[in-house]
Amino acid sequence: MATNYDVARIFLEIAEALELSGQDPYRVRAYRNAARTLLSLEEPLAEIRRRGELLSLPGIGESLAAKIAEILDSGRLRQHDELMEHFPPGVAAMMHVPGVGPRTAQTLFRELGLTSVEELEHAAREGRLRALKGFGAKTEANILQNIARLRTRRQRIPLARAYPLAQQVIHLLRAAAPVRDIEAAGSLRRMTEDVGDIDILVTSDDPAAVMAAVTRLPFVQRVLATGPTKTSVLSEQDVQVDVRVVAPENFGAALQYFTGSKEHNVKLRTLAVRQGLKLSEYGIFRGDTRLGGATEEEMYRPLGILMYPPELREDRGEIERGLAGVPPDFVEERHLRGDLHVHTNASDGRASLRAMVEAARERGFTYVAISDHSPARGNARGLSAARLRAQAREIRALNRELTDITILAASEVDIRRDGTLDYPDDVLAELDLCLASVHSAFNLSREEQTARLLRAIDSPFLDIIAHPTGRLVGTRDPIELDMRRVMTAAAAHEVALEINSWPERLDLNDAHILLARELGVPLVIDTDAHAPEHFDNLKFGVATARRGWATPADILNTIPLSQLLPRLRRNRLRKAA
Ligand SMILES: [Zn+2]
Ligand SMILES: [Zn+2]
Repeated sequence: MATNYDVARIFLEIAEALELSGQDPYRVRAYRNAARTLLSLEEPLAEIRRRGELLSLPGIGESLAAKIAEILDSGRLRQHDELMEHFPPGVAAMMHVPGVGPRTAQTLFRELGLTSVEELEHAAREGRLRALKGFGAKTEANILQNIARLRTRRQRIPLARAYPLAQQVIHLLRAAAPVRDIEAAGSLRRMTEDVGDIDILVTSDDPAAVMAAVTRLPFVQRVLATGPTKTSVLSEQDVQVDVRVVAPENFGAALQYFTGSKEHNVKLRTLAVRQGLKLSEYGIFRGDTRLGGATEEEMYRPLGILMYPPELREDRGEIERGLAGVPPDFVEERHLRGDLHVHTNASDGRASLRAMVEAARERGFTYVAISDHSPARGNARGLSAARLRAQAREIRALNRELTDITILAASEVDIRRDGTLDYPDDVLAELDLCLASVHSAFNLSREEQTARLLRAIDSPFLDIIAHPTGRLVGTRDPIELDMRRVMTAAAAHEVALEINSWPERLDLNDAHILLARELGVPLVIDTDAHAPEHFDNLKFGVATARRGWATPADILNTIPLSQLLPRLRRNRLRKAA
């Protein structure tokens, strides 16, 4: 029986092939979105189909539902088979080598018969690419370098992929075996942007049943090892999942031990030794006497250390603060009162203005900024000035109707290559809030890129720089920036920098957040939601903020709108004028 992963993988390969063949980006995106939906499901598709509910899944219409059914029944899809003949997956893989892209990948396939990244590498090494128009020794060297970098990155799994997989493991094991406690440990629990593998800890009255259930998880490609209390499997996406059954009285000790980080645990153990104590995955001991280990707190208490949340356990000072008795005070989801970066189907979102506002309201937000794209983003149906104004009228009408949430007429304006913003000033002046971001020219030099952002920050209309580095975890490098200069300017102009919660982005990252706090840059945490369910991504942004030690006071959208607006640049200037 095809799993959710099988179906998602086929859709992703179709998306790649369509992109490669220069198809309509909307069609490409439809398959990507569908795959994303499927990967986030906790329940097997076959189950959902049995209930006749495939069509209720976001982004799944009649045609995709029929394709899902075909894959579930036969394990394959005719359309996919045909596409793969013309656009083998290896050709699509070449397209992802930075600097190659769809058109060049096609040329490499057509002209040189290359069908994989390996063949591309070989050809570049032999100097065979120069035969093509526009290719030279320098392009070949670049391609080789980019392939090498892709390889080292691929060994880690982005949180965006690992998190839903871990949730699925937890969900399926709960259903399939007598599980009491179950929790993901490891770097996933610390919410690092990528993880090496997935560690799950379980307590159970029947460990053998749990182990058996692990080997039968639907996405298992290979069982790497299985024993009475530990089983390791490899998922079809080559992610290793380790499941351990531990005794209930050791659960806290194991959770602490396997959550790490290594640096945190090494320091903790050193401190323990100095106090004549010993820490292990089985508990905390003085000589032969066990002092605790059923809960994580019991591992810290005898050491006289306040426990800090998993996201902070990187040995960046949390142990010293815990030792000094400084209680942790970090931003949590419940502190956020609004979302300042949300798309609708006016640009590349999937839901209407009303649906997005309703979803924000249901989450308990008291304000939400609607920030669709500007004209430069043709692919994303960026709004002309006229459409932007029409949307603002719609927002005003909705604001009159709704009493418990305030909608801001905003925009995510492209920062052009030269640093100017993608609307004329008179249009920008009409907005309640202006976000701006880089969506193009990612390859400028550090000097040029820094100058570009500094010029954007100079605009009196800019309030927030969204996803400031443009990176995509594991697939696109951050733009080159003198971050300290950009942040210093942002702080001086009171322009906020965003912590984008989109799990592929997590931008700013933890290191940048630490720097931003040091330099006094205002921060916001946004979801960049393109559909109602994307508000759930907030947890990733909050976790990243916590990894950067952000407190509620560091995050502007933890305060009520009445206090927030005067803190934003445009409103400050308006007041002064
Ligand atoms: Zn964006
Ligand atoms: Zn956006």
